[in-house]
Amino acid sequence: MTTNNNIEQIIEEGLCIGCGLCAGVFPNQVQMQVSPSGHLRPSERTPLNSQQNIHLQGFCPGVVQSGMPSDKVLNLENIDPTWGPIETIVRAHSSDAKIRHKAATGGGLTAISLYLLESRQVDGILQVAGGGLKAYFGHSQLSQTSDDVIKSSGSIYASTSPLENLLKILDTGITIALVAKPCDISAVRLLGKKDSRIDRQIKALLTPICGGFFPPFAMENFLKSVGADEDDVQSVSYRGEGCPGPTIIRFKNGETITKTYLDFWGTDSSQWYMPWRCRICPDGSGEAADIVSGDTWPNCEPTLEMMENDLGTNVVVGRTSRGTEIINGAIKANYLSLEGDAKSNDLDYWQPHLVKKKITADARYAGMRAAGQIGLSTLDLRTNDLKGRMNKGDYQQELEGTTRRIKIGKHSDDFSEESSQSN
Ligand SMILES: Cc1cc2nc3c(=O)[nH]c(=O)nc-3n(C[C@H](O)[C@H](O)[C@H](O)COP(=O)(O)OP(=O)(O)OC[C@H]3O[C@@H](n4cnc5c(N)ncnc54)[C@H](O)[C@@H]3O)c2cc1C
Ligand code: SF4
Ligand code: SF4
Repeated sequence: MTTNNNIEQIIEEGLCIGCGLCAGVFPNQVQMQVSPSGHLRPSERTPLNSQQNIHLQGFCPGVVQSGMPSDKVLNLENIDPTWGPIETIVRAHSSDAKIRHKAATGGGLTAISLYLLESRQVDGILQVAGGGLKAYFGHSQLSQTSDDVIKSSGSIYASTSPLENLLKILDTGITIALVAKPCDISAVRLLGKKDSRIDRQIKALLTPICGGFFPPFAMENFLKSVGADEDDVQSVSYRGEGCPGPTIIRFKNGETITKTYLDFWGTDSSQWYMPWRCRICPDGSGEAADIVSGDTWPNCEPTLEMMENDLGTNVVVGRTSRGTEIINGAIKANYLSLEGDAKSNDLDYWQPHLVKKKITADARYAGMRAAGQIGLSTLDLRTNDLKGRMNKGDYQQELEGTTRRIKIGKHSDDFSEESSQSN
């Protein structure tokens, strides 16, 4: 087994998610670019030295994913064995009907972002908006007006580097709330153990629940299937304008293709394409965030009837006292409307795919090591306890399955055949 983790190796092992934080921490040496495989990946102009690699290993989500650091947990009794710290959990949606309709689910994240910005608790919202190095990617955006926050609502199921500019923005001295995926939030929490600006200037870490995104080869295949090329694409709206709303691909020649959520993704979510790092993700529930917002469909799949009629309801989780305070403030100030209470085990029903990934994580990482990789590790995610829910036979099967997939190259960014679907 190799022991020296560096950017090249993290990418080779299929564990880079393209968050961009390494480029922000080492701006003179690393920059984000589109790799030959089509993903957003860091490229080293000058290789990091051994001290810098040690620093990288402390935060990179291709090395370690963290839940909530224990000093941020107010009450250990509030740690759910499956879902981590939960101080408050409700069903809610944006109080503004237009935002609720435009947003990915019920506009929970947009409502909370607007509350923080308009009450001047932060100077800006660092979030993701559509476009970037490719028209169907997302890019990091600092929104300092309500209009920009509203325009950036909706989910982008594509390569994005939300943390690329984070430190440059903190260098300006402003305060922000960050909206980013759970793996990105983990990276920021871990960097915060070394860099005091994170706790001082980031007033809230917000995240969507995340099961993974569409890898570039899958979009390229989709475009080929409709006789188009990525250069023809003007923009993609993956979700929003309804719950979940259609996927709309707009072309430079003015034409559009519109697909329903299930026509675009397929009806069997176990067969959805996604990057390897997402497939083996130990926590898509954002355990390191202050606030999490997700869907409330049974089994996380909308029915045809829901696709036509669902107005959008988020599960909104406050994981820290700060998160709870913000959620309560947003309800009181009528940015967020409460639909009712929820319980932590409702998440089992709404997000079963995430339960499976949490439980199998340890076996999968053992499978990576058996294949000669360094693999991923976890911190404050109870991975060792969760593996106890598997019997020995299933654990071994999962471990060997992971080793086998790595040996045939399924972990690689270059792997782009039908066989990269889950199994
Ligand atoms: C890649 C991905 C996978 C997801 N998988 C699941 C899942 O498995 N289960 C589930 O319940 N929900 C999932 N969601 C979340 C769901 O699509 C909604 O985003 C979530 O319910 C929040 O809805 P909302 O109405 O509060 O968001 P909105 O009010 O529409 O706000 C969305 C916010 O997320 C930001 N954002 C959009 N795309 C990204 C991105 N790629 N990276 C970082 N930030 C982004 C926007 O800038 C905006 O601030 C996923 C979202 C993404 C982006
Ligand atoms: S996961 Fe993020 S920090 Fe790690 S190598 Fe990739 S872009 Fe850099
Ligand atoms: S599934 Fe995990 S690794 Fe993939 S984008 Fe979501 S949080 Fe990150």
